[in-house]
Amino acid sequence: MPSFDAVLEAELAGLVAIGRRRACPEVAGASRTTVAVSGEPRLSFCSNDYLGLADHPALPAAAAASAARDGFGASASRLVSGDLPAHRDLEQALAGFFGRQAALAFPTGYQTNIGVLTALAGPDDVIVSDALNHASIIDGCRLSRSRFAVYPHRDSDAAARLLNEARTARRRFLVTESLFSMDGDDAPLGQLAEAAKSHDAILIVDEAHAVGVLGPRGRGLCAAAGVVPDVLIGTLGKALATAGGFAAGSRVLRDLLVNRARSFIFTTALPPPVAAAALAALQIVDSPEGDRRRALLRAHADRLSPQLAALRPSGFETGVCAAAGSPIQPYVVGTDADAVALSAVLAERRIFVPAIRPPTVPVGSARLRITLSASHAPADVDRLLTALRPPA
Ligand code: PMP
Repeated sequence: MPSFDAVLEAELAGLVAIGRRRACPEVAGASRTTVAVSGEPRLSFCSNDYLGLADHPALPAAAAASAARDGFGASASRLVSGDLPAHRDLEQALAGFFGRQAALAFPTGYQTNIGVLTALAGPDDVIVSDALNHASIIDGCRLSRSRFAVYPHRDSDAAARLLNEARTARRRFLVTESLFSMDGDDAPLGQLAEAAKSHDAILIVDEAHAVGVLGPRGRGLCAAAGVVPDVLIGTLGKALATAGGFAAGSRVLRDLLVNRARSFIFTTALPPPVAAAALAALQIVDSPEGDRRRALLRAHADRLSPQLAALRPSGFETGVCAAAGSPIQPYVVGTDADAVALSAVLAERRIFVPAIRPPTVPVGSARLRITLSASHAPADVDRLLTALRPPA
């Protein structure tokens, strides 16, 4: 009888055999664009700190003031030990920023999607979902025990057909990311909102990668498209450079989530210093300093995007098209082995871009997911392009 560890070893060996064994690289570094990977300095293009706020002194200053006022850990669920000033201030600011009545913060964006979907949808409902939606949306759909109908990526006509087929369900939901996390392309939000409206469906949009970066003063792609989703989801861990997630919408939606979202109820709340730092980041996002950082990021995207498109290995261009100004610029290679090999070539040139493989992306579309930050210099972008270019 093999030991339990031997069984686990065999499972890991199976991942090695198909080139999918993964491990967390050991990194250190005060900045998110220059990191030491296993002790060696690298120029990094893999952080979601799109505005470069992770290094901003206002964040630790706000966290320290909150820790002195509110304590460090939240100590329990907010339904038990209560809302602290840092939670209230952050949620009020988020609601104001998005022009909504209310917002509710969760300990992570992952828990936000799980909490929202399981609180709102049940076995008599249908959730219509984009094929490339994030794992946290997929898991939320599964946990809700709703019927889960998937439409081809960005196909709003197919979404409308699925909503129509679900007309006898108790409730219909349409859920999409706004800027897709692995492809950097955008959802057709106007058409999806139309489809939701004409089929009496509830529209949920996850703006994790757009908040702070795109739309009017970083309000995201719904604001840019003039779409008001029933639930707007976001994370604090990317452009807002901290951790946590939130749902914004009506006051009654927030009340319902407080009562029904199990990933809010049965977990220790977001640490108050993290909430305070996220608020400091939001204030920068909504200021001329935020405009300056968005302009830098946009310039990097405009510099990288056309040249990267020209470099892409033939046969892999289709279906991968970053939206204008997207900080996510995928370089799709195809096989897992090729993506790993290309990442290793970059590592030799002291550039850090890990290979992204299934199950994070569909089989056959392994890639380098290049992400840009306002902290990069134009010369950094040129260095990446030079490193990717095949030798003459
Ligand atoms: N939604 C999307 C679209 C994401 O890409 C992510 C994280 N990669 C999440 C939600 C989860 O957010 P968090 O990292 O805050 O848990």
